[in-house]
Amino acid sequence: MSEHLCVKWTITANEYPQPLLHCRRCCSVRAYRAGGKMRVNANGKRIDAWLVYRCTACDSTWNRPILERSLVHSLGPGFLSSLCANDPALVDRIASDVDDLKRWAPRLQEAGKVVVSREVLSETAGEPPRLRIVCAVPRPVRVRLDRLLADELKLSRSRVQALARSGALAVASASTTRALRRPPGDGTELFVRLPVSDARWIARAAAGDG
Ligand SMILES: [Zn+2]
Repeated sequence: MSEHLCVKWTITANEYPQPLLHCRRCCSVRAYRAGGKMRVNANGKRIDAWLVYRCTACDSTWNRPILERSLVHSLGPGFLSSLCANDPALVDRIASDVDDLKRWAPRLQEAGKVVVSREVLSETAGEPPRLRIVCAVPRPVRVRLDRLLADELKLSRSRVQALARSGALAVASASTTRALRRPPGDGTELFVRLPVSDARWIARAAAGDG
């Protein structure tokens, strides 16, 4: 038993970043969603490849360049077969690459929802429990930390902010106020001294067993 109920939250976006592009059919700026398909066009020794996105309103396509007139022999055989097979791991890697996507589409839609999977690292005998949340964020997410905490702990955002103001909620090695306005990073660690009245159910929400 430790002093804290320690929970690890692994936070992943449940959708890829969506570029905001002018859609010719909609005559408007729309978000485009990455599907799981790539297009490959080999012409002699040269190869072009794209990841196919679709307008979320009308399904028109936009092809995001992956390779441009690249020499076939310069590619590893594994990479080429992954391209041709629409390998989900490759699609995942490219679709998640925000920096590269910004080369083609400077404006991106904030990724809406995230999925949080929970793992209890250590229980506490303390009552009411002190809560320690360790965030694992394998790929950057775009949800603000205060919104995430409100959703996951089933509290209002103003309640989360009040806990922070009173010092009952603190982000380790950062300014809590600033950290709450930003997405959590990999390794972000939070400490919450749970209010006696709500301690049990907040702890259950944090640990995911209720
Ligand atoms: Zn459209």
